[in-house]
Amino acid sequence: MIAEKLLQLDKVYVNYGGVKALTGVDLYVDENEIVALLGPNGAGKSTALKVMFGLTPLTAGRVLWHGETIKPVPYEMVGRGLSFVPQGRRVFHHLTVYENLEIGAYRVREKSIIKQRIEEVLNLFPALRAKLKSKSGNLSGGQQQMLAIARGLMTDPKVLLLDEPSLGLSPKLVKEVFAKIKEINSERHTAIVVVEHNLKSLMSIATRAYVLACGEVVTSGAPKDLTNSDLLERVFLGQAGSEK
Ligand code: ADP
Ligand code: MG
Repeated sequence: MIAEKLLQLDKVYVNYGGVKALTGVDLYVDENEIVALLGPNGAGKSTALKVMFGLTPLTAGRVLWHGETIKPVPYEMVGRGLSFVPQGRRVFHHLTVYENLEIGAYRVREKSIIKQRIEEVLNLFPALRAKLKSKSGNLSGGQQQMLAIARGLMTDPKVLLLDEPSLGLSPKLVKEVFAKIKEINSERHTAIVVVEHNLKSLMSIATRAYVLACGEVVTSGAPKDLTNSDLLERVFLGQAGSEK
């Protein structure tokens, strides 16, 4: 019997043809947590997020939602309260900031609720307010990432899945993005799963972290328990997985 968690992967395997992307991954996220999925390129981090959202089918294992085994399908996962912000700041460049936010709430019928949500996300991302009528393609990289996250919040999610939100941003902007992630978690009580390829990046904001390498969780725990370990040095030097 598995203790009931908000969202859980239980011994999940994913093969892409002959490529074993995940080989028996156990992980979970609970209410109000910020969970970091860390690991080098190709470790399986994005695959783990896609499994949660129903974008990638499992080869074996289970996904559980509130302790019940489910078969994740994206629109049903949105209905359960998940929102997925993929890697690469994918905003609609030819649409304005306002239109991008509206699209984020495509499931909501009532205009008044959409307006209210836009107001809420603009309070969280004040820099976007001055840009509402600008085409998103004209925003800076940092603003586009903020918009991608803001759009992800338009469904008012319980769980926000963020794939490498810091990619391609300057160190200063990375800090700003991580501060926003922390703020979303503490103000809206949104559980957040955030993927990063840099080991140390999320340690200051994560509740718990999992380190993946070659499709496996090699270690996990509170950030303070994960620092300075020889194992991590090896993983991030690309040597983990070769000793099995
Ligand atoms: P990460 O996000 O940690 O960089 P991924 O989950 O993207 O890792 O990829 C894990 C492994 O699966 C890698 O070896 C990658 O090349 C492979 N992979 C990912 N997506 C596909 C796909 N659509 N088809 C085939 N192989 C894939
Ligand atoms: Mg990835």
